[in-house]
Amino acid sequence: MKRAALLLVVLIIITGCNKVEKIHSGAVVIDTHTDTPMLMVNKGLNLSQRHEPPGSCVDFPRLKEGGVDAIFFALFTGQKERVSENYDAVYNLAHQMIDSTRVNVSRNSDMVGLATSSSAIEEISKQGKTAICLGMENGFPIAKDLRRVDVFYNLGVRYITLCHSSNNDICDSSTDPVRPEHNGVSEFGKAVIARMNQLGMIIDVSHISDDAFYDVIELSKAPVIASHSSVRSICDHPRNMSDEMIKQLAENGGVIQICILGNYISDADTTSMNYIKKEELRLKYNNWQYKNEEERKAAWAEYDAINREYPPVLPTVADAVDHIDYVVELVGVDYVGIGSDFDGGGGLANCRDVSEFPEITRELVKRGYTSEEIEKIWGGNFLRVYKAVEAIAVKTN
Ligand SMILES: [Zn+2]
Repeated sequence: MKRAALLLVVLIIITGCNKVEKIHSGAVVIDTHTDTPMLMVNKGLNLSQRHEPPGSCVDFPRLKEGGVDAIFFALFTGQKERVSENYDAVYNLAHQMIDSTRVNVSRNSDMVGLATSSSAIEEISKQGKTAICLGMENGFPIAKDLRRVDVFYNLGVRYITLCHSSNNDICDSSTDPVRPEHNGVSEFGKAVIARMNQLGMIIDVSHISDDAFYDVIELSKAPVIASHSSVRSICDHPRNMSDEMIKQLAENGGVIQICILGNYISDADTTSMNYIKKEELRLKYNNWQYKNEEERKAAWAEYDAINREYPPVLPTVADAVDHIDYVVELVGVDYVGIGSDFDGGGGLANCRDVSEFPEITRELVKRGYTSEEIEKIWGGNFLRVYKAVEAIAVKTN
């Protein structure tokens, strides 16, 4: 009898594993935000080789292991003073990141393909490869020149996160250390949004201020995404979205892609050495307002050293799925997805890189989500928005 019971338990476990695998491989798995291009440019990361977290969370072999059908590589530029030399520098940096992505993709066409439309994502995933898509995190490289929206569209960029952690020429940031500058979206920002709608570029509201978010909802003809944002009611960070914002986003047909970066998933343990040391560092570097490039590099080196000496205790997949549950409860299962922020600080204790994405599916299955619901969360919802953005572009052109 004992043996029979044991056999039954083993069978149940195997069936459960197979179920997770089947659902995960059947879904179009899309991650809408990673900062991988930065590592390619700064560290010469070769994506055809397998690396290890935390140094690197995304490469082509691990995308395959994690059953990832499409991933957005964000061209991230940190906000600096808005002077012509900085505009030029970030414009060039964005081009460098596009070039590195293109080189890495073209050298590995057996594993990946560059996708610049929703149908290309579906096509490439059907071939058993991962679609690499381009987004831009922070509209800083657009400077004050509307023509640059077209320049980046023509190079394959399909979303722009309007700003990053400080205000820019397009809109206010949710975390600007000084104050609101435009009280939402600027006049130039309005023109950027209109042009993005015309071209079929997705507007990304992650990082922007609440007022800027409400302006975008008014201004955009197409639904919008938050490529990597979590729920403020669970984790009170200005970068996360309030219930009211999530409701408006959903009403507009958009999607919030839950960001699996620790600070946006659970409130920090303010008694941990990791937290205390980082707070000291923040004060030392004037709330991350650097005087120059050397100072920025020094701050990051010290930041990395703190993480090595006092490794942060990361939240778990279950903590992240709590955010998904919350959105589902609030507005339904059609308006939520996942944007990891891997290679930009994203990662959970039991999902440290793209190869471990099936752990999220396992948790969703455990909580009773159906395969149809999981397919929506992993990519269906995002693809719906992407297609709506493309359809509006066709209509306006
Ligand atoms: Zn970000």
